[in-house]
Amino acid sequence: MAVNPPDTHPTPFELSPVYLMARSQLRETGKYLPDIDPGIIRRLEFPKRSMVVSVPVNMTDGQTQMFIGYRVQHSLTSGASKGGLRYAKNLDLGEVTALAMWMSWKCGVMNLPFSGAKGGIAVDPATLTLKEKQQLTRRFTDEIHSIIGPRIDVMAPDMGTDEQTMSWIYDTYSMKVGYACPEIVTGKPVELGGCVGRREATGRGVVYCIEMAAAQHGLKLSECTAVVQGYGNVGSVTCEELHKRGVKLLGLGDRYANLYNPRGIDLAALARHVNAPENTRRTIDAFPGAEKITPAELLAIKCDILVPAAMERVITGENANQVNCKLLAEGANGPTTPEADAILNAKGVFIIPDVLCNAGGVTVSYFEWVQDLAQFMWDEERVNKELQKQMAKAYVAVRAKAELHRVSMRTAALIIGVEKVAREKAMRGLYP
Ligand code: NAD
Repeated sequence: MAVNPPDTHPTPFELSPVYLMARSQLRETGKYLPDIDPGIIRRLEFPKRSMVVSVPVNMTDGQTQMFIGYRVQHSLTSGASKGGLRYAKNLDLGEVTALAMWMSWKCGVMNLPFSGAKGGIAVDPATLTLKEKQQLTRRFTDEIHSIIGPRIDVMAPDMGTDEQTMSWIYDTYSMKVGYACPEIVTGKPVELGGCVGRREATGRGVVYCIEMAAAQHGLKLSECTAVVQGYGNVGSVTCEELHKRGVKLLGLGDRYANLYNPRGIDLAALARHVNAPENTRRTIDAFPGAEKITPAELLAIKCDILVPAAMERVITGENANQVNCKLLAEGANGPTTPEADAILNAKGVFIIPDVLCNAGGVTVSYFEWVQDLAQFMWDEERVNKELQKQMAKAYVAVRAKAELHRVSMRTAALIIGVEKVAREKAMRGLYP
């Protein structure tokens, strides 16, 4: 395989451990695809296009503050690129690039007509007023206007962003093009052309995967225990859906606190606590119905199902040996490092990898985009039925690939995702 000359500078992505992790997964996957031209795998190591923008905001205190925003389109081979927008304090280009790459494989696994993208702004959203967040979002949208569009790149919520953020992007883009263009983003409020069930889609998809994995391993969900890290969009819906199936939630964590209750956390009381008007950070902290533990203790609780649903690289070579679950369902993107993956596989933990497990979000985003383009909206029953069908189809395909090659579900999912994009690239050829 051709490599860059040894004396060249590392690319800006290569400074990021998250990017290096995504690239090493791609290179490993390439070994299972002997009939794919290594030059195509090489092309897939690099994003097609990355944009870094400075975003000035007049803050409430009268000062002008500068924020750095990113939009990375890993590929445009399979259709418009698709991926979330993340507001997080330490965000960098490498992390966004890795997340964009994972989106490509995820769209491939789900057989969606999208390529992968991701974006974000390096900011702690908890430090912004609503007005500042709106200004930041609108100016960012304006700065990246030249590389987004309903047929080019479509954003959706991710960590630190939500339906309101998508509404501002929709409005800013529409003001610029001169007509209402709801298909520029997904994950909008239903009133603005959003899809019913999109908010819940990722968590629901996670739990559909858990149901299939539990059946595969002879586990009865009504007798299972679970631990969830993250109580945002993905984590909270995952908790609710697990609860509906009779799973007992032993532990739960967010950015501010980690909780443990061996008798099971009372989810209804917890939701009241988190949504109380005085709980402005919407945190599980100070919930009285559980004892406080450390983040390390949370991930080490003995349980049947562990769901990391917060952020990447939380299960590492250092703590994987303490993880004590039967199923690991990756609600977050990239929560398990390759070192941890090897340790968990050796311990017999069954991992439902992120590119499959949390793909419910992008799947219903696809439904939303289709509905907006057609100007014909579906009801929730149809959305959920289609979501369940697509998740089951993808799970069965990944499982079959894993059995065929005698590899983990992660390797199998990556083989499917990478192969789809690589074959499309090969068929289209190299321009010019
Ligand atoms: P969110 O912002 O709604 O929630 C994030 C949660 O993680 C919050 O509870 C927050 O307190 C917690 N958290 C943040 N930092 C933490 C830390 N250091 N330790 C423990 N908890 C921490 O975000 P979300 O949309 O639920 O996304 C969560 C993960 O799921 C991300 O990895 C995201 O990329 C992935 N994901 C989201 C979607 C979606 O549709 N929202 C789809 C696919 C994947």
